[in-house]
Amino acid sequence: MTRGGVTRHEVVILGAGMSGLCMAVQLRRAGIEDLVILEKQPGLGGTWWDNRYPGAHVDVPAPVYSFSFAPNPDWQRRFASAPEIQAYMQKVAERFGVLPHIRFGERVVHAMFDTDRGRWQIATEQGERLDARFFVCSTGPLSQPRWPDIDGLDRFTGRRLHSARWEVNADLSGQRVAVIGTGSTASQLVAPIARQAERLHVFQRTANWVMPRLDRRYNGVDRWLARQPVWARVVRAAWVAALEMGRRGFDEGTFARRAMLATAARHLQRQVADPRLREMLRPPYPLGCKRIIYSNDFYPALTRPNVELVTDPIRRITPTGIVTDDGRERPIDTLVCATGFDTVHLLASLSVTGLGGRTLRQAWAEGPAAYRGITVPGFPNFFLMLGPNTATGHTSTLLFIEPGVDHAIACMQAVRSGRHRWVQVREAIFRQHNDELQRRLAGSVWAQCRSWYRMDSNGRVVALFPGYTREYVRGLRRGDMADYEFA
Ligand code: NAP
Repeated sequence: MTRGGVTRHEVVILGAGMSGLCMAVQLRRAGIEDLVILEKQPGLGGTWWDNRYPGAHVDVPAPVYSFSFAPNPDWQRRFASAPEIQAYMQKVAERFGVLPHIRFGERVVHAMFDTDRGRWQIATEQGERLDARFFVCSTGPLSQPRWPDIDGLDRFTGRRLHSARWEVNADLSGQRVAVIGTGSTASQLVAPIARQAERLHVFQRTANWVMPRLDRRYNGVDRWLARQPVWARVVRAAWVAALEMGRRGFDEGTFARRAMLATAARHLQRQVADPRLREMLRPPYPLGCKRIIYSNDFYPALTRPNVELVTDPIRRITPTGIVTDDGRERPIDTLVCATGFDTVHLLASLSVTGLGGRTLRQAWAEGPAAYRGITVPGFPNFFLMLGPNTATGHTSTLLFIEPGVDHAIACMQAVRSGRHRWVQVREAIFRQHNDELQRRLAGSVWAQCRSWYRMDSNGRVVALFPGYTREYVRGLRRGDMADYEFA
């Protein structure tokens, strides 16, 4: 309904990625139809729309990278490619009637809670104004590309690409290319670029742990079996259990950790024959502190004659190349920045104002924090999806999204059925939850290096959940509304 140029909705969702889509599907199933998704891009998929670099794929097995309510028997490979995942999401949106609820090309810039009316006032850069009882931010931590802070970046006159803003038809054949970064993303794009480019320089600041990827193509029999509901459920459950066991590998002294260390060492030994290159690729931090890379073609790509791994630090970027600390300049035509995302300034591109005029930026001065990654005191009727401390280093993020969505909807239903104006998490519960998380994280492997899980300024691990998936799920399923206060 539109009144005075303001469109009213029960729920406004920001972002049409996995979590926004899941939220919309489950809201509709719960009977809440009056919802809109605002998506800044022209298509849905979130990170799978943004990350269209060559070789992009998911690094967890596809059977657990689909929603429990929408299994996909059509996966072509165990580790599905970005276009396949985006197509799956499109199908889910069509099948569950979400497409008509999405408004593409709308970038939210401002959201303010009207205390008297118990409603969110939301404005987009395109001039839309919306009024909603509930506001869901499902942008996730991996949405804001981070460019490297290197002198001269802006003066480079060749083509400059970020992995998360790829030019889909970018042709690198016959070019001199530099890739900055050797994280999960770089490990996927280096091999395809190496096959195209005349010369590829890979600039590594920190070597990472790389494990074999147990990939395989799914054949007709696999796809037939995947159509049998009981089989599909068993396969999914088996993968969930197997990945969950991998969580043990992050704890010092466990058998799982010893096995993972041995596997990684063997992988490097087998794939890189040159002892000098092997030494350059040895990680200087404990396994698991940064995201583990699963790749079969990253190391071999670095051994190609047209590829050079550069470990001398970058001093500056010139209009036509990159100069390292030893004074050498490598001329390049295309610069690829696989330098990740700004994960600590969550929602920095919009201003969110809650009770008493306090902004989210003020509330998060020490770093983002939320109760179970979903609710923040002082910001009523506001829900984060894949919010602070919900990332995982061992399993599928979808296993965190689904219970998070259920929890947020339970809060919304409690407001609706109790005829309340709003719900917010109790301050004391929020503090207790985050103090406990930070206590556990401070002694964990994730506190032992610099990574996107962590604030540079104060060392807080703000992105990662330290426990097993079942612990996160159990915490939410308790569904204890006593943790919340209603107005
Ligand atoms: P990332 O893990 O943050 O890696 C960024 C890389 O850029 C690192 O190697 C970093 O070096 C380097 N870097 C950053 N600034 C630099 C500078 N100024 N000079 C030199 N090097 C610099 O980012 P990402 O690889 O994009 O991955 C982010 C996350 O996205 C992953 O951890 C993963 O969760 C997700 N992802 C998932 C998939 C999937 O399959 N599901 C695929 C790709 C990405 P340092 O290590 O020294 O900082």
